[in-house]
Amino acid sequence: MNFDGFFAQELTRLQEEGNYRDFAELERHRGAFPAATCHNGPGEVTIWCSNDYLGMGQHPDVLNAMHAAIDRTGAGAGGTRNISGTTHDHVLLERELADLHGKEAALLFTSGYVSNWAALGTLASRIPDCVVLSDALNHASMIEGIRHSRAQKVIWKHNDLADLEAKLAALPAGQPKLIAFESVYSMDGDIAPIREICDLADRYGAMTYLDEVHAVGLYGPRGGGIAEREGLMDRVTVIEGTLGKAFGVVGGYIAASEKLCDFVRSFASGFIFTTALPPSVAAGAAASIRHLKVSASERQIHRERVAQVRARLDEIGLPHIDNPGHIIPVMVGDPVKCKFISDTLLREHGIYIQPINYPTVPKGTERLRITPSPVHCDADVDRLIDALEDLWTQCQLARRPMAAQ
Ligand SMILES: *Cc1c(COP(=O)(O)O)cnc(C)c1O
Repeated sequence: MNFDGFFAQELTRLQEEGNYRDFAELERHRGAFPAATCHNGPGEVTIWCSNDYLGMGQHPDVLNAMHAAIDRTGAGAGGTRNISGTTHDHVLLERELADLHGKEAALLFTSGYVSNWAALGTLASRIPDCVVLSDALNHASMIEGIRHSRAQKVIWKHNDLADLEAKLAALPAGQPKLIAFESVYSMDGDIAPIREICDLADRYGAMTYLDEVHAVGLYGPRGGGIAEREGLMDRVTVIEGTLGKAFGVVGGYIAASEKLCDFVRSFASGFIFTTALPPSVAAGAAASIRHLKVSASERQIHRERVAQVRARLDEIGLPHIDNPGHIIPVMVGDPVKCKFISDTLLREHGIYIQPINYPTVPKGTERLRITPSPVHCDADVDRLIDALEDLWTQCQLARRPMAAQ
């Protein structure tokens, strides 16, 4: 077989469908984020689609902790957690995480993806006869973990309590059940009814597994996520999060009972057979979490920025999904125009917003996913709105009727 010929043909097909991904090659500037240099683009750009939602990736506390840890311990962990890779910094971070979520314990993984894949895969495969009830819009990492477990899987309609209840009721009463869902869904920015899902879980004797990846650091008085904000952390069996988004570093974790964490620690291949995160990463993440536990100002300014961008989009009539969260999906509804707008924003305006097309979102709902942060300034917002206004006209895209004043 001509392997490269096959690869080329598949890539061409992807390109023709408009689904081929081009990467912007960025170099972020410490102390000046969201400014960055785009090495394969127009040079200086402003990033408007980062998941470093609060700019913690450049916070002095985080950088100082990382520098100090490198000076103290060196570069890598030097092994898997089992074989010489469990450092003092990992243990301190797990304590910080358990405390953040009001749980007995926490367990670190190399990423949020791995934490979902490994934890769901292990729980669903090792609990005898387990059935997983999975929200239809769950993240790929949860889907892969459930698939890998080979457990029975029932998909319920996104955020639909009646459908979840019907599916729970249809299962044998004695069968172990695990409800897997997210708090903030990252493409539409909508939020799950956690309390009601926990009520159903109680009624049907199910465990709950909540992905708070897009909420940790951002919601709740100490940045514990939506479950913290709603006073529900003790009702969720497993809270999963990332250290790579609002916390600005990298890594993933679960927080749960001591026995559950010990169980996953002892049986999850994706935890056992991989080198532990560098201690400097653990120290940086711990510093970020500690800072956001006591400082609400980043969250406050973040909320204000999001509200400001929404209001400005309304003023010029650009359609965006009104959601109760911090993600602003501006709807284009056409893959070619969506990519054109994104390309032109970058090339002519120095504004970087990645287009979100199928298969990440359904066809016809192509969008620009804007993530304002506390480190964007008024001038950044002005430039964004002016550029979008221009491009909307140029692409002859529909506008919303102006909001009644
Ligand atoms: C990004 C993401 C993950 C994976 O987290 P990483 O730390 O980036 O691997 C998991 N779940 C959801 C919902 C995500 O958006």
